Amino acid sequence: MPAEPSTATLLIDGEWRPGPTAFEVVDPATLEVVAHAADAGPGEALAALEAACAAFPAWRATPSEDRATALRAAAAAIRAAAEPLAELMTSENGKPLHEARGEVMGSARMLDWAAEEGRRADGRVTPGNQAGPGLVLRTPVGPALAITPWNFPASMLVRKVGLALAAGCPVIVKPAEQTPMIGTELVRIINEAAALPAGVLQSITTTRPAEVVGALLDDPRLRKVSFTGSTEVGLGLIRSTGARLRRTSLEMGGHSPAIVFGDADLATAAAAVSAAKFANAGQSCIAINRLYVQRGALEEFLPLLLERVAALRLGHGADEGTTLGPLIDFAGLDKVERHVTDAVKRGATVAAGGRRWTGEGARPGLTGAFYEPTVLTGVDDSMLISSEETFGPVLPIYAFDDDEDALRRANASEYGLAAYVFGSGLSRIWRAVESLDFGIVAVNDPAPVRPELPFGGMKNSGQEREGGSEGIDAYLETKSVSVRL
Ligand code: NAD
Repeated sequence: MPAEPSTATLLIDGEWRPGPTAFEVVDPATLEVVAHAADAGPGEALAALEAACAAFPAWRATPSEDRATALRAAAAAIRAAAEPLAELMTSENGKPLHEARGEVMGSARMLDWAAEEGRRADGRVTPGNQAGPGLVLRTPVGPALAITPWNFPASMLVRKVGLALAAGCPVIVKPAEQTPMIGTELVRIINEAAALPAGVLQSITTTRPAEVVGALLDDPRLRKVSFTGSTEVGLGLIRSTGARLRRTSLEMGGHSPAIVFGDADLATAAAAVSAAKFANAGQSCIAINRLYVQRGALEEFLPLLLERVAALRLGHGADEGTTLGPLIDFAGLDKVERHVTDAVKRGATVAAGGRRWTGEGARPGLTGAFYEPTVLTGVDDSMLISSEETFGPVLPIYAFDDDEDALRRANASEYGLAAYVFGSGLSRIWRAVESLDFGIVAVNDPAPVRPELPFGGMKNSGQEREGGSEGIDAYLETKSVSVRL
């Protein structure tokens, strides 16, 4: 089932097909066209759903051990293809190659985890009453749709696919239109390595997500939607579900606070904050969006942080030494500029960066949406950046005097995805962990994503979890069986 090098990026019922038309995929660093993808419409999506429904009975009946073996083979194939996959990701997403490699390897670990969890998706037997025993069974929810974003175009897709397949659900993936090729290539590799039957894992690329997803949502045979993307689109999906209930997982926007207590190892905290802010040029749902530093430590902490920021190297993600790539597009850049301009107008100080980068000293042709890594001080809660997700390389710093005040301000957000705490006093850290209203709390850790830990948010950041032993629940129904003997 080889993917054509052309625009045949639709995998429907075991066949790679082109769409009615095609669309261009650009390198965000150079704005050059790097590929063309099939532009599917509702007809292709419904054909994929038809095939998924046909594949469901056999796939759910496949022993979980066989499904696990297939997923482990897919994980191994992803590891074996890590380098070309990373290069492909960088070419359409812009992130530095070392980050892309890390994401690919992380995706393989997620598949391994899903394979293991599928074998543990067991139920229970309740103590019998006068009539007989009761059983709780867990059954696959049915044909699923995975809608994924451009910022982590491999890991977000593989995590959903792994859990769905492990649970016994066929899955249709719809990658973001900015990054269709890495998603398509992963679908090809997983299909081949796992020798999946037709219809079990399919892919639909499109520039008309509302129309294509809308057609699938209108069809009651689609039993599950797992969405990762913006809060605006995610809430729209819930609304458009209308009167029909359907299992829906949402991984949406964030506005992560980080708190640096005065007793933190400040050099380590500065390195971690820089990593958690500037990875993927700040375009991460768990990127730090607000940094609260204890006032007494700020004087020592700020130069340590600025040293880290000064060491970042803007450039094409594929170039040796690049640690900061472009933003995905100029709409993203406009938002970053709007946040910085608003903050400065209201009294913030630019301690580093604060402007577009036009490629000085790097290879020619970097015409994409680059922005210098930026640090703002003197930021207050009234500024736009304090409540809106920036999704770019800008770090606003706030001073705080007492822990309760920092925790209250950290929680004052419509979002609740991830929070970071840096410090050493155990009781102080524990109080913070307990009181932060976030699905993920990272303690002295810049990268709180592990297959073993459930990933997901509270409030407007989402519902359900991916990963951990909770992750597979999103693809399982609970069935109670009452037995009379
Ligand atoms: P987006 O919401 O614009 O797009 C995400 C996906 O939804 C894409 O596949 C897109 O084609 C599709 N989509 C867009 N409009 C749609 C519609 N009307 N109906 C159905 N599908 C539609 O988000 P994005 O810009 O690609 O990603 C950035 C956002 O994703 C940020 O807000 C970020 O915080 C969030 N994100 C969250 C997580 C998480 O796990 N919580 C992870 C990564 C990114």
